[in-house]
Amino acid sequence: MQAEHRYPEEKFVRVNPSHPCPICGRGDWCGYNSFIASCMRVSEGAFKEVILSNGQVAYLHWLEPGMVNLPALMEEDTITAAQTAPVEVRDRVYRDFLKLLYLHPRHRKDLLRRGLTEWEIRRNGYRSVPGTEAPWSVCRRLIRMGHDLAGIPGFYKARGPHGGTYWTFDRQPGYFIPVRDEKGRIQALQRRMDDARGGKYKLFSGHKSRGGCSCGTPAHVARPAKTEDRRIWITEGPLKADIAGEYLGAVVVGALSAATWRPVIPVILALGAKEAVIAYDRDLETNPEVGRAYEALKAELKKHGLVVGRAVWNGKKGIDDALAAGMEVRVVRV
Ligand SMILES: [Zn+2]
Repeated sequence: MQAEHRYPEEKFVRVNPSHPCPICGRGDWCGYNSFIASCMRVSEGAFKEVILSNGQVAYLHWLEPGMVNLPALMEEDTITAAQTAPVEVRDRVYRDFLKLLYLHPRHRKDLLRRGLTEWEIRRNGYRSVPGTEAPWSVCRRLIRMGHDLAGIPGFYKARGPHGGTYWTFDRQPGYFIPVRDEKGRIQALQRRMDDARGGKYKLFSGHKSRGGCSCGTPAHVARPAKTEDRRIWITEGPLKADIAGEYLGAVVVGALSAATWRPVIPVILALGAKEAVIAYDRDLETNPEVGRAYEALKAELKKHGLVVGRAVWNGKKGIDDALAAGMEVRVVRV
């Protein structure tokens, strides 16, 4: 019981022919961690039987020290992380990926409610995480189109039931928001999750131990259909930037969060901006962390010789909601 208490959630690693099950001696089906073997065949001597989610019964056996070489098994189980591909490559794959998907009516409704028009929704390329087609099937179609998914954040490898690996991605319901660079290329995808309990927004990224890779924290550049304001606005969140951009008639750069403002700077410089307006959420007045991020961003922009303003409005938390509600947004020099 001592060991159970010490390692309450250590994951089981599946056995393979070179690292067989220490209980039944076979190289498949069973698994172990550093102190328990989960054998699918031998019940004798087990301290516990557990019914797995697929209905099969696994027999848990305590392991004696030295019975297994877990680090060696884990080493073999790990699929090398890929180097993130250049933005040109990511853009090509993501464009074709989004073309294979569609936008669910409930997500279109959500975007309309946020203040975008049908035309803007189509133009910006939002798509739902597929609900019926399996991720591996979508991946297979991309590979058939000639794409290599190694180095494309969000995609990773799963192990097949009979050995080997296949490409897949996470399928938690939600919709994809393209994160574009200053040239309009899709450099990453953010997801608006249907179930916001683990966070409303999540990047399509990671799973480095499964051949996946990270997209970092890139800033999104939202370009409205018509630009009337030559100042560059800065807000938190790609979708917020898309919405604010349309109402303002200005290019809006969306940092992934208030704190990840650093990638905004090279974008602002590449766009050749002379004047920037910071439109962080209104909680910058009460949330010290957001307040600090705002001050740091402001100082960095000034260091590069930009004229800096701050957007001010009443009531709503975010500038997108304020603009969509028809409220007046003023800019004060800071
Ligand atoms: Zn076994």
